[in-house]
Amino acid sequence: MEEKLSNCRRCGRIFVQNMHPLCQQCLQEEESEYRKIYDFIRKRKSREASVAEVMAETSVAHDSIMKFVKEERLRTRVSDRHKSQTWDSCKREKSSI
Ligand SMILES: [Zn+2]
Repeated sequence: MEEKLSNCRRCGRIFVQNMHPLCQQCLQEEESEYRKIYDFIRKRKSREASVAEVMAETSVAHDSIMKFVKEERLRTRVSDRHKSQTWDSCKREKSSI
């Protein structure tokens, strides 16, 4: 099988393309970032944390958080009553909530 080289969308390194647009290292980093956010928003009191609070708590970059939201791995909902957004992890997550 012919191997295709690609630029990692995150770090720009050249790697052998797989199913993802990221190299192996960045995939792992992203996974651990996601895990940090996921653990944080699982706590009931974090459900209405602002993006800034999630950033402060998890030290994950704003862009990465927004990327997860865009990929629908994380969801934010704006609640009218509290005028704040709430977080939800995606159903695709394997472990039970
Ligand atoms: Zn990379």
